[in-house]
Amino acid sequence: MSTGRSNLLTVRAHTLLCLQGFRGEGYSPAFVENMGAIHRRLSTDPKTAVRVIARPDEICSACPHLHPDGCHLKGPGFEAAMNRQDQAVMARLGIAEGEILSWERSFAGSPRASKGAISTRSAAPAPGCRWGIAGKGSMH
Ligand code: SF4
Repeated sequence: MSTGRSNLLTVRAHTLLCLQGFRGEGYSPAFVENMGAIHRRLSTDPKTAVRVIARPDEICSACPHLHPDGCHLKGPGFEAAMNRQDQAVMARLGIAEGEILSWERSFAGSPRASKGAISTRSAAPAPGCRWGIAGKGSMH
């Protein structure tokens, strides 16, 4: 579904959950600044258009773990594990890769979340998570 908005934000699917649990912590000052700005933007304007992807996104762009071949959080090749997390979240939320929808319809306050299809409390944290809410919710 296109929202018809031009200020498109790309978010990898499992980061939809990470954004829900963001508490101002992260891998580096630049990462926190970037993710904080995106979090504020989405909180301020829930109608922001979001393209859901299964590869590095605008949050990854400021992450010290991003390499040319993707996420190296747990070492070379870890992008494949992150991609599997993205695929699992998209399957649970019923979102196709590349789909564009507003933030509020992608997750925040959406019927998908309220029906308990997936949430920051039910989602399994990704291996290596070190800044999620008490180890729950964040998949980074
Ligand atoms: S840890 Fe990996 S998936 Fe998470 S923001 Fe960094 S590069 Fe992206």
